[in-house]
Amino acid sequence: MMKGLSGFMPQDDPEVRLMNAQTEVNELKDRLTSLYAQIGRQAVEKYGPEAFGDQADALKLTQSNLAAAESSLKSAQQEKDKKEREEKEKAERETCPSCGARNPEGVKFCQECGAKLGAPAKNVCVNCGAELAPGTRFCGECGARQPEV
Ligand SMILES: [Zn+2]
Ligand SMILES: [Zn+2]
Repeated sequence: MMKGLSGFMPQDDPEVRLMNAQTEVNELKDRLTSLYAQIGRQAVEKYGPEAFGDQADALKLTQSNLAAAESSLKSAQQEKDKKEREEKEKAERETCPSCGARNPEGVKFCQECGAKLGAPAKNVCVNCGAELAPGTRFCGECGARQPEV
């Protein structure tokens, strides 16, 4: 029989008590650390970093390292966004607007249905390429009859 996985855990189960006690200790330690941090911050503001010797140097170094790390985080995020955007655009280019088939890169016409790839999903004249409202029957630019959709 497996303990602790049944979903029902009686409070007097030693494993449960151990887990709860451990959680409480961890939470209180975290709270203490954060209180010390707040006190430390106030102390530095009150007495100046100089009052803290070597730790003041470490503080300055850490602050400047943090600034550098934050700026590289930002640029990494931007690079990731850019890559995702490029991949999305690539997928859009390679996906047939007519039948939805995914075609290999560089292919100009859908290998499934022959529709032109890379063209935006807008309605253009078959003859002159002028942009037409959906459902237009004759091109307003050149008069060419449009295929029925
Ligand atoms: Zn297609
Ligand atoms: Zn036209």
